[in-house]
Amino acid sequence: MKGNMSNRQLVSGLPVPIDQSHTELKDNGQQKDYVVLTPEERGKGFVRPVRRTYIHVGLDPSMSGCVLTKVGKNGCGTRTTMGQSIAETYARDPSFYTGTFCCSCGQHRPLEEFVWEGTDERVGS
Ligand SMILES: [Zn+2]
Repeated sequence: MKGNMSNRQLVSGLPVPIDQSHTELKDNGQQKDYVVLTPEERGKGFVRPVRRTYIHVGLDPSMSGCVLTKVGKNGCGTRTTMGQSIAETYARDPSFYTGTFCCSCGQHRPLEEFVWEGTDERVGS
């Protein structure tokens, strides 16, 4: 097995399918399943706090400290909470993902459009 794939699996615990069939979208816009780091890899330690909720603030939002005062381009201001294994994957490797799901927009959007709830920190930074 190749090095950088051996530490990955799906949220469901299944191996990452070679045909990428897990990326097919369901009716709600989410993928059938998502790639995460294995528990063994996550167990090596986090470089960021484990955070489960982010806000879709958009590009160039107006923030007063950690408070969103006006959503930016493409943003909607909605919070989305994700599963623990995905949250831990972000905490272990902040650059693992390039986009994430907004439950209000029903779409995957670039990470630049999101901050962690209660912070002004961009998701993926
Ligand atoms: Zn949104």
